[in-house]
Amino acid sequence: MTFTKEITNRLRNHRTPFYYYDMDILRETLTIASREASSRGFTVHYALKANFNPVIMKTIAEYGFGADCVSGNEIEHALNCGFQPGDTVFAGVGKSDQEIETGLRLGIKCFNCESIAELKVIDEIAARMGKKAPVALRINPNIEAHTIRHITTGTDENKFGIRIPELEEVVTVMSGLHNIVFRGIHFHIGSQITDLNPYRNLCTRVNEIYDWFTDRGLEPEVINVGGGLGINYNEPETLPPFEQYFNVFSTHLDRKIRSSISFELGRSLTASCGSLISSVLFVKEGASETFVILDAGMTELLRPALYHAFHLIENLTSELPVKKYTVAGPVCETTDTFGKFISLPETQRGDIIAIRSAGAYGEAMASRYNLRSLPGSLYSDSI
Ligand SMILES: *Cc1c(COP(=O)(O)O)cnc(C)c1O
Repeated sequence: MTFTKEITNRLRNHRTPFYYYDMDILRETLTIASREASSRGFTVHYALKANFNPVIMKTIAEYGFGADCVSGNEIEHALNCGFQPGDTVFAGVGKSDQEIETGLRLGIKCFNCESIAELKVIDEIAARMGKKAPVALRINPNIEAHTIRHITTGTDENKFGIRIPELEEVVTVMSGLHNIVFRGIHFHIGSQITDLNPYRNLCTRVNEIYDWFTDRGLEPEVINVGGGLGINYNEPETLPPFEQYFNVFSTHLDRKIRSSISFELGRSLTASCGSLISSVLFVKEGASETFVILDAGMTELLRPALYHAFHLIENLTSELPVKKYTVAGPVCETTDTFGKFISLPETQRGDIIAIRSAGAYGEAMASRYNLRSLPGSLYSDSI
């Protein structure tokens, strides 16, 4: 249980809003994920865009995970937090020249490359720097991930990856680029995926594409199947189903490629350990609902405003009978709402509210809109 009376009392001594990280939950998540992956011979890179808080990052690095970066700054930050360059990969549909230089200079494991134009630019920059650039091709497998439309990435309508019909040309062009070293293939079909069937379909596609490459004399040593494993936002204390997830891949991928598989997990590693802690500023009667106005809003946790994401909301300090409330933030936007008509014990000014499962895409997406201060962070090990 994350929020015992004792912890709630300690949290009361700190100025809200802030992120609170339960480090025991983080360590438990990391223990299970790394055990289930390594027992199958799989490698996991942590997608640090989910949460780049240095305390969280250092803990993840201690468990031996690699890093999956989507910017040059993320590469530098990952190395500063203890990740190894040889375990760091760089993805992203729009890498700038400077970011490519950063990756080459720091000697990362692989660039996940998304187009012919990008391959040519990486080749040119590598030539100029006297380096060879290790590259995996990000292939769009055209698989429907059955998740929120805004966070699906692996279908034909997306900007991400190389479409299968383009592969022939990509491989031809690549063979003429002498500063590119082909390392493997990369896929990522979306985020917050809770139905494991899309992953089964991905495995079938990966097997076919692997054979397509070997038929052409190219041996993918790295087969990166991306991330996206979802969590149960209704049950903050339940950890993601790592065993079932990794099992899909050990069951459905061809035996000959299983030893080269890597993953890029973000949300599933960090979401459960984090909560956004906020105080109730005002309880306000509307025409048809009662508003609870918090001192945290979309500037601290953007997901509900950005794509109607659901987070469980708890009042940690009231034990009164339950009423229905609309919980909103202080920011000047109507979408700055965390939940409509939700049940909470009767709530008053000064109550402490926890917005759960906010350890991924929470603190990392915080902004200074309305010139608000960025949220601080507290850790269960040190409050
Ligand atoms: C965002 C992202 C991930 C991580 O996704 P999660 O849903 O957080 O697991 C992995 N790979 C790539 C390329 C990404 O863009």
